[in-house]
Amino acid sequence: DDRISRISSSIRVIPDFPKPGIMFQDITTLLLDPKAFKDTIDLFVERYKDQNINVVAGIEARGFIFGPPIALAIGAKFVPMRKPKKLPGEVISEEYSLEYGTDKMEMHVGAVKAGERALVVDDLIATGGTLSAAIRLLERVGVDVVECACVIELPELKGRDRLGDKPLFVLVS
Ligand code: 5GP
Repeated sequence: DDRISRISSSIRVIPDFPKPGIMFQDITTLLLDPKAFKDTIDLFVERYKDQNINVVAGIEARGFIFGPPIALAIGAKFVPMRKPKKLPGEVISEEYSLEYGTDKMEMHVGAVKAGERALVVDDLIATGGTLSAAIRLLERVGVDVVECACVIELPELKGRDRLGDKPLFVLVS
């Protein structure tokens, strides 16, 4: 698919960001190419448009870039999954482990209902810790997480294994 190769080559790799030894996959250069950005959204929309998805849950921060256009195109609501203390209303939260220490993800109480069908969107899966926290948070309130979707997967980190039997769809590996 020539759309995939255009998307792949529009992603810039920045060595030693945010710390030495990390090869950071920078999706801001994908956003500078309107065709690559549109193709990215179209590929997700083609996959999810007829799957009766009610909820697109986007993970802060770059899931807030890719999630909303997908939600609009498939007629689903968009629910932000945020870093702690950002959401103004009552929240439920889920802790997850990082390389050093832990972090937390929060969602507004009442944003989703039991039985709804959700797609979880982020830009990239590395260890899978972030996506697995999002899945747990949604499942705690009875939501059916249909799939996770990312632009990029770093397969050597085996993040897919942390998602259990939850399907993961990615454009670039
Ligand atoms: P994980 O929890 O899978 O280890 O890390 C994934 C999270 O970290 C995602 O929210 C993603 O945005 C961020 N992340 C980690 N490494 C990179 C990277 O190289 N590029 C980008 N764009 N995000 C990254």
